[in-house]
Amino acid sequence: MKPINLRPQKSLGQNFLVDQNIARKIVQSLDLQPEDIILEIGPGHGALTQIILPQVKQYIGVELDHNLAQKLIEEHGARETFQLFTQDFLEFDLAQIGQLGKRIKIVGNIPYQITSSVIFKVIKNRNYFHQMTLMIQKEVAERVVAIPGSKAFGILAVLSQTFARPHQLFTVSPHVFYPKPKVTSAVVQWDLELGANKLVEDEAGYIQMIKKLFQTRRKMLRNSIKQCYGAGIIVSLADKFDLRGRPEQLSIDEFRQLWQIIRQVGKDKI
Ligand code: SAM
Repeated sequence: MKPINLRPQKSLGQNFLVDQNIARKIVQSLDLQPEDIILEIGPGHGALTQIILPQVKQYIGVELDHNLAQKLIEEHGARETFQLFTQDFLEFDLAQIGQLGKRIKIVGNIPYQITSSVIFKVIKNRNYFHQMTLMIQKEVAERVVAIPGSKAFGILAVLSQTFARPHQLFTVSPHVFYPKPKVTSAVVQWDLELGANKLVEDEAGYIQMIKKLFQTRRKMLRNSIKQCYGAGIIVSLADKFDLRGRPEQLSIDEFRQLWQIIRQVGKDKI
């Protein structure tokens, strides 16, 4: 793959993969099966696309850059299994591909500026998907797989680990991209099927609670909860949950328990 005529646009986070070995390694990690449906976010010049296409039942790409989309269609459009949407993935209606079946796998070497939004969008719509594999900034990857008590533990870790099972697979040097990004990357895989079994009642409320609590990650829960839900709830909560803990130290199970208790005792207060 030659970095010739790529004319990357910084505003679209275009750092193209120019190393076949890394492209193959990422695709290998998808464990593709002939019945798989793949949704690729930002295929670009098709570094991953060309390896994926012959191996799957159906390929769906979502690329925002019109020129690149055009080029991809010219190259692969003749294949019946290839479908491309020239669109912003963040505005792409996932329900339209939801009926295709449960084995949809997502893959993307995505623009770093939209990483959190992509993760939240897919987690919210995880019922359509089997797995998601993204190449993201290494620091962000560490935030996704972080454990309680560590500096990187926050919203990304709690939401990823409540609703999925994320694993960091390997790191990727800036040298395999054109142009070279300033940071090291990492490939992370979210197992969405297993995570989906663990249901949380009133998911939107749970997500809101996590976001609110992490605004004051070092404060005692008592204070943050009082601030979020009012003082009235504290008395009934205090004998059911240790409110001296801090959000950054709670395990995923403890966040779930806390939410369940808040819902029970605060039905008319929140
Ligand atoms: N997958 C290619 C590769 O590995 O070489 C390209 C990777 S490049 C980091 C990110 C790609 O995402 C670019 O092709 C860019 O045009 C596209 N892109 C940027 N923002 C997007 C968005 N909101 N929705 C879909 N694609 C987007």
